[in-house]
Amino acid sequence: MSEPKKAGNMFLDPTSHSSRLFREAVKYMPGGNSRTSIIYSPHPFYFHSGQGCVITDVEGVERLDFHNNYTSLIHGHADPDVVKAVSQQLKKGTAIGALTESEIQLAKLIVDRVPSIEQIGFANSGTEAVMLTIRIARAFTGRDKIAKFEGSYHGSYDHTEVSVMNSPEEGGTAYEPASVLDSEGIPGTVLKDVVVLPFNDEEAVKHIIEKHRDTLSAVIADPMPSRGGLIRPREGFYKFLREITRKYGILLIADEVMMFRLSYGGGQEMFGIEPDLTSLGKIIGGGLPVGAVAGSAKIMEMFIAGGKHARVPHAGTFNANPVTMVAGRVTMGKFDKPAVEKLNGLSDNFRTKLTGLFTLMKVKAQVLGAGSMFRIHLTDDPINSYRDAYMYPHRKEMMTKLFFKLMDTGIYIAPEGIGCLSTAMAEKDVDSFIVAMETSLTTLIEEYPELRA
Ligand code: PMP
Repeated sequence: MSEPKKAGNMFLDPTSHSSRLFREAVKYMPGGNSRTSIIYSPHPFYFHSGQGCVITDVEGVERLDFHNNYTSLIHGHADPDVVKAVSQQLKKGTAIGALTESEIQLAKLIVDRVPSIEQIGFANSGTEAVMLTIRIARAFTGRDKIAKFEGSYHGSYDHTEVSVMNSPEEGGTAYEPASVLDSEGIPGTVLKDVVVLPFNDEEAVKHIIEKHRDTLSAVIADPMPSRGGLIRPREGFYKFLREITRKYGILLIADEVMMFRLSYGGGQEMFGIEPDLTSLGKIIGGGLPVGAVAGSAKIMEMFIAGGKHARVPHAGTFNANPVTMVAGRVTMGKFDKPAVEKLNGLSDNFRTKLTGLFTLMKVKAQVLGAGSMFRIHLTDDPINSYRDAYMYPHRKEMMTKLFFKLMDTGIYIAPEGIGCLSTAMAEKDVDSFIVAMETSLTTLIEEYPELRA
């Protein structure tokens, strides 16, 4: 490749390398891809390489990566320590039908940093982790139903792909949301076992949980629901949730697949959650596929086979594969308390500067989030629920335009306005984002004057 080009969206040009690759891709894969969450129209760019917080597309255009593979890269791309550890492991073997010491090391690291976790078992995706966590909860309690929050995403598992993306109209009342399937192909019978709760609404949650108290095995919560708007939990919300679930013998699951990056001990430490079970993924795999189920020894013993059939079998050809385990160990080892503090401090500055820019430019926009996570909403109406965060077509259209304008000015975030920082970033990268945002908003408000406050 020639000299890196600093910005631009030449990947959209029909003659670009990305366009040509995409035309080739659609011949062999439905919609030209294997991951619906990263697809946008007319087509995405093709990635060439990444180094730290900079990614380069196949056109040779560099962008600052505030996407970080949907938050799974905590140190950015190709961290030298991770590359070294993985390279050494590659030479020793990648898939082994036996145990390796590396899984003990990553397990110990996570058990040591989270008080609610006494035991942990690995899988290969957050989806699998959630699926097993729910299965354990059902086996432990002898009940079938689960409750989840409206708008919360927990991966592509039948019982959690309920009420994830529905419009407020499809969801019935806000006080008692309906259970809505998010995908065709999921048996309708799933709906009778999935109860939907409105996040942060204690009175409604109490009412719904009490209605199902004898049949609910667990309540699963993304500590700060990303798809639900990245709204912080209200003060005392998780204390209330812990008390009511404990009262009725219902387990509390913290789905920390995305939010584990929030602090040293994850979202549960940041928001004072005391879960029975935790599902993990993303950052703990150091950039490789991973999932994990974790919790108290008393519940996790469901996995123990010990010569007989485990109550909950936990197989998986690539579970705890040593490449993921060493990448995870090095990554999490480096994401120690000082690193967490530094990253979160930088991210606080980021949100403060962005809010300052919105005010200065008199734009109807706001940024929500905590720790190293952020989500931009193109409205100045208060966002207190999934329904407030829901993007009707007009808001979605403006967000998509903003996304492309940011890409054009050298910034990569997720198309719905979600992003995160990595330890590979510094204040200068935050400032580059702010400059790019100012440039992008200047033309966006010309096209959409209704965005002016
Ligand atoms: N749970 C949560 C909270 C998630 O954010 C995600 C993925 N974004 C998942 C589960 C699923 O993880 P994976 O994509 O690794 O299957």
